[in-house]
Amino acid sequence: MVSFLKRIFILILVLMIPSVAFSQKAVKPRNGEGIQSFLKRHKLTSEEDYEKFLELNSGKFGKGNSLLKGVSYKLPVSSSSSSSSSANQNFGAKFNNKLFGKNYSEYTIKSNKLEGACFYLTSGHGGPDPGAIGEAGGHKLHEDEYAYDITLRLAHALMEEGATVYMIIQDKDGIRDDKYLKNSKTETCMGATIPLGQVERLRQRTNKINSLNRKSKSNYKRAIFIHLDSRSKSKQLDVFFYYAENSTEGKKLANTMLKTFDEHYNKHQPSRGFTGTVSTRNLYVLNKTTPTALFVELGNIRNSFDQRRFLDYNNRQALANWICRGFIRDFENTRK
Ligand SMILES: [Zn+2]
Repeated sequence: MVSFLKRIFILILVLMIPSVAFSQKAVKPRNGEGIQSFLKRHKLTSEEDYEKFLELNSGKFGKGNSLLKGVSYKLPVSSSSSSSSSANQNFGAKFNNKLFGKNYSEYTIKSNKLEGACFYLTSGHGGPDPGAIGEAGGHKLHEDEYAYDITLRLAHALMEEGATVYMIIQDKDGIRDDKYLKNSKTETCMGATIPLGQVERLRQRTNKINSLNRKSKSNYKRAIFIHLDSRSKSKQLDVFFYYAENSTEGKKLANTMLKTFDEHYNKHQPSRGFTGTVSTRNLYVLNKTTPTALFVELGNIRNSFDQRRFLDYNNRQALANWICRGFIRDFENTRK
């Protein structure tokens, strides 16, 4: 045990040495090299880096601040790298969110691609309303459970890219890798009981999104409603993207999603064909939600061909990843 700890201690020391050494690194210039090219070679390009370099090595220069052959110069810690890390303080940070369940609760901020973006994610139905019901392998498949799992995976993916995410519908299930997801009526609207009546149910989630939206200071806010109950009986992957009438941003988002799905689908399963559509639709949640909103039907849970797409958790993850990619692209488009 003692030797094991000793080994760990040595390992930590070894891991620490390079970072300490780097900040005080001293390097000799190449023949005829000037300060600018010398610094550039070591990825120190800012004005600040230049100043720091002069300060660190004062008295070691030739005429006109030329570098001297055979002299070791100390390199400053890059100011550009330290400023970019302060711009995204969460970068690389590990978080824990119980909502994702025990196997997925830990996540790491992998990028700042969605930093500053804010999302309101709503899975269809929930509580007393299971949504569409399919059947496979002697199991009843409830739309709300599968939509929730995909939505939760989407939340996980968006947060890893630095986004702020609100899960409007929540349950204790966490992300599940099971083929047959157990049905429950325990979903809530961020803790509030979901009412039975359809209008009250939709009004509750819309009001929740709008009240959160009023408090958000983000310049990019998007709401998405995820369903699995299209009427398609086609063998192809049919995905329907709907936006609110007169919503220019909604239309842009829907088209960007379609394009992203099309590209990913052609890359992974070119033989099957993809027929996604974008259109406006008169839906309560689209009309009443204040942030730009997208309503998506990812397939039909009653269709045995579509069911394969939802039963395998890898496919549920892929759908979540594609939606995440679409959001990243839409976010980047608004910044151009
Ligand atoms: Zn539905």
